[in-house]
Amino acid sequence: MTENIKRIDLSRDYLAHKQEYLEAIEAVCKETAFSGGKFADKFDKEFAAFVGTKYAAGVNNGTSALHLAMLALGVGPGDEVIVPANTYIATAWGVSYTGATPVFADCTADTWEIDPEDVRRKITSKTKGIIGVHLYGQPFEYNEIRKIADRYGLFVVEDCAQSHQAYYEGKQVGTLGELACFSFYPGKNLYAFGEGGSVTTDNEEYFKHITRLKNQGCDVRYYHDEVGYNMRLEGIQGAVLSVSLKYLDEWTQSRRRIAERYLREITNPLITMQAHPANTEPVYHLFVVTVPDHEHFIKYMEEKGIECNMHYPVPCHLQKAYAHLGYKPGDCPNAEYLASHCVTLPLFPEMRDDEVKRVIQACNDYRG
Ligand SMILES: *Cc1c(COP(=O)(O)O)cnc(C)c1O
Repeated sequence: MTENIKRIDLSRDYLAHKQEYLEAIEAVCKETAFSGGKFADKFDKEFAAFVGTKYAAGVNNGTSALHLAMLALGVGPGDEVIVPANTYIATAWGVSYTGATPVFADCTADTWEIDPEDVRRKITSKTKGIIGVHLYGQPFEYNEIRKIADRYGLFVVEDCAQSHQAYYEGKQVGTLGELACFSFYPGKNLYAFGEGGSVTTDNEEYFKHITRLKNQGCDVRYYHDEVGYNMRLEGIQGAVLSVSLKYLDEWTQSRRRIAERYLREITNPLITMQAHPANTEPVYHLFVVTVPDHEHFIKYMEEKGIECNMHYPVPCHLQKAYAHLGYKPGDCPNAEYLASHCVTLPLFPEMRDDEVKRVIQACNDYRG
C-alpha cells in the first residue's frame, strides 16, 4: 500500500527541528515570560528586520492584526473599505469589527487577485481605503491599486497572511502599504505553535497606536488612555517563531521548487493554473487550480490517496454573515467561478519528490 499524501503535513517540520523548538519553549518557561515579554519582543525585532520595515507589532493572530490596522487608520462606523471577494473571510472581519462596511471587489479572471478595475468601480464618498490580499502567496497588482488609492486619498493595507517573503517588483510584501498584516496560524508559510500575527510598518505613530491598542489601551501599566484590547503575542509563540523564521527562506525555496514542477509538469488541459505575473515572486502558500468539476476531481484524487481541498468554496460577498449587505450571485463573477471550480493540491515544504511526482501523475491521468 502506498502512503496517503496529505494536503499539508506540519509534523515533518516538528520532527526535523524538535530539539530546537522544545529548547525555545523551555527558555520561555524558565523565565515565565508568557504574555508579550522578551521573547515576543525579540521576535518582533527579527521579523521587522526580515520584512524590511522599521517596526513589527506582534499580536495574537492575523485577524487581530487586520482589526488593529483598521483602528489605527481611523476606520469606523459609516466608512467603507474595499476588500477582495476572493479571500479568506478574516480580511473582511477586520473591517466589520470597527463598525465599518466591507465592500467586495472581484478578482481578475487569470491571477485570481483583486481586480483594480473593479476596485475603481466600487469607490464611493464613504470609501476610506483598500485592503489588498496577496492571496495564495501571489502578490496582487500593487502599483495599480496604489494609483487608485492616491487618486482618491485612500489607504492601502496589505493582507500578507499567505505571502511571507513574496516579492512585488523587487520589494518584499509587507513593506508596500501603509500597514501590512501577517498571520502565523499553523500552516501559513511562517507559523506559530498556536496562534500569532503581526502588523509591519515604517510609520512610528501607527506602530505606537497598535502597540497601545493590543496592550489594553495603555503605554504605562494601569493607565488606560483609550479602550484597548488584549491582543498581545504570547512569549512561547514568539520563541517558536524565532526558530521557524530561520527556516523560512529554506521553506520558501522548497515551495517554489515544488510549485515550479507542478507548473511545468502538469499538462492536463482540464486543469487551469493561476497566472503568476513576471513582476512578482510568489511563495505558493496554496497551489490552487481550477477544473470543470471540482467535487469529482477531489474524489478522484482521494481514491488515489491524495488529499486536496478548496480555497474557498464560498466567496466572501455570498457568505451568510454578509447577507445583510445584499450581494447577489453574479456580482463578482470571477470570484464565483473560482469558488465553484477551485481545488488546492498538496504543497508543503517537506513534501518528498516521490510525492510530488505522484500528484503530477494523478493530475495528468485525470480524464474528467
Ligand atoms: C489566515 C488568514 C487570515 C487570518 O489570520 P488568523 O491568524 O487565522 O487570524 C487573514 N487573511 C488571510 C488572507 C488569511 O489567509
